[in-house]
Amino acid sequence: MILLISDLHLEEERPDITRAFLDLLAGRARAAESLYILGDFFEAWIGDDAMSPFQRSICEALRQLSDSGTHIFLMHGNRDFMIGRAFCKAAGCTLLRDPSVVQMNGEPVLLMHGDSLCTRDESYIRMRRILRNPLTLWVLRNLPKSTRYKLARKLRNESQVHTRMKTNDIVDVTPEEVPKVMTQYGVRTLIHGHTHRPAIHKLQIGADAARRIVLGDWDKQGWALQVDEQGFALSAFEFVPLDASLPATASDASKSAG
Ligand code: MN
Repeated sequence: MILLISDLHLEEERPDITRAFLDLLAGRARAAESLYILGDFFEAWIGDDAMSPFQRSICEALRQLSDSGTHIFLMHGNRDFMIGRAFCKAAGCTLLRDPSVVQMNGEPVLLMHGDSLCTRDESYIRMRRILRNPLTLWVLRNLPKSTRYKLARKLRNESQVHTRMKTNDIVDVTPEEVPKVMTQYGVRTLIHGHTHRPAIHKLQIGADAARRIVLGDWDKQGWALQVDEQGFALSAFEFVPLDASLPATASDASKSAG
């Protein structure tokens, strides 16, 4: 059994997401032969040399899963493209190129984060090309940490403002881009995240039936795609309330009393 997840946007400010992820690592992921994380695993990443204690604890949790025998594959997203080899080595995971073709159920499957499919967003694609250039990455990695923190905050604020202003079509994949890239890589199944629009889309490529599976973002609930002999199953699951150990009626009682 293989598990695929993406867009967790892990950060210290969302202990509910972190808890759900740690539960997945200790539970379902242990039974998996492989776990694929297709980008935007962390909300922000300014370099392997600037890991926060929170990020270190996630690294350690991945390591434990990897030590238990599950292979972990990590792909960059647009938020965490600065994740490097040092983190992957410490976490016991393999960095996957975007895009990558992987065999699943005896079928070649194309894995992507998904941002490169959103070609109608020209300003983003231009920015992506600059940021992923090896020279830019080298310069970024060698900036003082304080400068990198400032830069990351600025990029994040700009991206939030920018995304809010854009129409729905622009932040989704370009429909024509999908069969193009699938034909280029000779696959009939594409799996990606990024757009936060979880779905399994049926497609027709030439004479063949094809599908595009979009993983969900972890915000109100978690999402995972399970691949086994039964096929490809995408499902959501609820987060366990963080104060589950407290009597659930305590706050309701105080609310109705007030
Ligand atoms: Mn993304």
